[in-house]
Amino acid sequence: MTAQEAIAPAPPAPPSTPTAGGARSRGVSLRAAPGVEPPEVSVIVPGLNEADSLAELARRIHLSLDGKRAYEILFVDDGSTDHTWEVITRLHAEDARVKGVKLRRNFGKAMALSAGFQRARGEIFITMDADLQDDPADLPAFIAKIEEGLDVVVGWKVERLDPQNRLVLSRIFNGTVRRATGVKLHDMNCGFKGYRREVIRSIPVYGDLFRFIPAFAAWEGFRVAEVPVKHHARKYGKSRYGLERILRGFFDLLSVMFLTRFQRKPMHLFGLVGLVLGGVGFLTELYLTVLWFRGHKIGDRPLLLLGALLILAGIQFFSMGFIGEFLTYQNHKKVDAEDLPIREEIT
Ligand code: UDP
Ligand code: MG
Repeated sequence: MTAQEAIAPAPPAPPSTPTAGGARSRGVSLRAAPGVEPPEVSVIVPGLNEADSLAELARRIHLSLDGKRAYEILFVDDGSTDHTWEVITRLHAEDARVKGVKLRRNFGKAMALSAGFQRARGEIFITMDADLQDDPADLPAFIAKIEEGLDVVVGWKVERLDPQNRLVLSRIFNGTVRRATGVKLHDMNCGFKGYRREVIRSIPVYGDLFRFIPAFAAWEGFRVAEVPVKHHARKYGKSRYGLERILRGFFDLLSVMFLTRFQRKPMHLFGLVGLVLGGVGFLTELYLTVLWFRGHKIGDRPLLLLGALLILAGIQFFSMGFIGEFLTYQNHKKVDAEDLPIREEIT
């Protein structure tokens, strides 16, 4: 935040003067700052202890975009314990198009990206990893796709240079994701992605669900596609993640399937399950009741307990459905016109 405020356009005044309200309020205040070209593209780079690679990365991003588009590079220091922040500060001093955000501690890539999205001022957001595994030379391809009219562009590492075990698990994971979400991408999890600003504005991401933005986006009617990208082996340090990420990914996938299909109509899921369970329970008890009237003993029948449990479970599911609908209703009241999934309009 401090770095953000200090970014005045080569100011005659001391840098502490927040020119034009600072760049904090996401683009809107930019028009008030004469002489500053608002960036068209925001390259957002989350980094944890990536001091070694940032200078080269920045140089290569400049090389790739300089003179082509107005852009900013937004480094998010996710609580690094090395010199990452010093490097970012220096890179900003060398070129004011480099901006930085530093989180209070290590919150994980998801939070780092959220901070980046929140501060980014461009109309096109591109996220890439800080470790030089993604190649800045591919940036123009993302921009071109979005300018063609696509809303989300996902990098596809055609030749992926990661350890073997990662590759196998990733393939299984991606296959499952494709089938579960119906979004045909080679690698939804790729950190190299481009978005039209509007996509990020209209999809709430929390936890690790950012990996699935393309699935949410496709569900919301945005156009999603992929571009082939180059991939390099990690130059400095080791991957910040282990295999447990894949496991967690499967839980996230469950959430994504639920949220995309049922977030606006939870009763359709819970009601159906409740009806089936409760219905089977009711029929079971009905059958036992008939037997009882015919003089049979039913007190020691296991079916009696089963039926009662099924009815209870059914009621539970119904109640969850009602709570879900209630939450959806409350939320819907807050939706303003800008959040409607409209692509074009004639007025
Ligand atoms: N990263 C981060 N916070 C974390 C973990 C990772 O900002 O808690 C960044 C990391 O610095 C890198 C990107 O996320 O820029 C991807 O991480 P990594 O290269 O370790 O993952 P891999 O390429 O092995 O999937
Ligand atoms: Mg990496």
